[in-house]
Amino acid sequence: MLPPLSEVIARHGLAARKSLGQHFLLDATLCARIAALAAPLDGRRVLEVGPGPGGLTRALLDGPAAEVVAVELDRRAIAALEELSAAHPGRLRIIEGDALRIDAESLLSAPRKIVANLPYNVGTPLLIGWLRQAHLFESLTLMFQQEVAERIVAAPDTEHYGRLAVLSQFRCQCRMALRLPPGAFAPPPKVWSAIVHLVPHAEAPEPALLAALEKVTAAAFGQRRKMLRSSLKSLGEAEALLRQAGLDGTRRAETLSVAEFETLARLLLARGG
Ligand code: SAM
Repeated sequence: MLPPLSEVIARHGLAARKSLGQHFLLDATLCARIAALAAPLDGRRVLEVGPGPGGLTRALLDGPAAEVVAVELDRRAIAALEELSAAHPGRLRIIEGDALRIDAESLLSAPRKIVANLPYNVGTPLLIGWLRQAHLFESLTLMFQQEVAERIVAAPDTEHYGRLAVLSQFRCQCRMALRLPPGAFAPPPKVWSAIVHLVPHAEAPEPALLAALEKVTAAAFGQRRKMLRSSLKSLGEAEALLRQAGLDGTRRAETLSVAEFETLARLLLARGG
């Protein structure tokens, strides 16, 4: 029988640090619900970023996952996680380090999934990195602050639609899975949180196409209030590019569908980037 998480936190001196984006989930039922969003987990290897005291990790280990690989930056949490590892021999591997610097492919073999209550300060860069290698994962079940989650699933011509929606939806089917109030965490954050479930599309695009899409969306949304014929100028021959794509140059970035951005990226790539 594992001790309550509040006791683990007290015994290991895990007072939450703002600099590490620490907002812990202590409710076992809620953690089990989050783990269930990533189903099926049997035989899967799960990457968890930022396990902290291990609430969500416990829920993952209570399920049928073959292995959980947990990457945690806070040294204070490692001893707590080692106790959890001892309770589940051979199923929890703990890596002390920065998730922004790890190579998921070498860390765990397929079939891989990611399940994480992400530290808010690095959630977006982590997602962008995983989208570049989305083919490695069967699914990603990720907690963000709600506003970021809205930006991932947003449709064109809506308030939150932007670069993150285009890059995410180009690579994955993205679904808002659960919204959580601040009180679900200890300590509570200032804003609501939400979980997005992403399932990568089977076909992996060539990395150069993804790079071209990152470039086009950076230009287009870098000046989102401007017309495309002006915002895309930094790419060179913006008018010709738009004509070839069959797009009206007076449109603004937020009105373009993901498919229209893909067309622009393919044309840019064909022109040599
Ligand atoms: N999973 C735990 C839970 O749900 O209770 C903790 C989630 S808390 C929002 C984020 C966790 O990520 C913290 O434990 C924090 O120490 C860790 N963290 C912050 N930056 C990190 C990084 N760059 N790499 C790995 N872990 C990080």
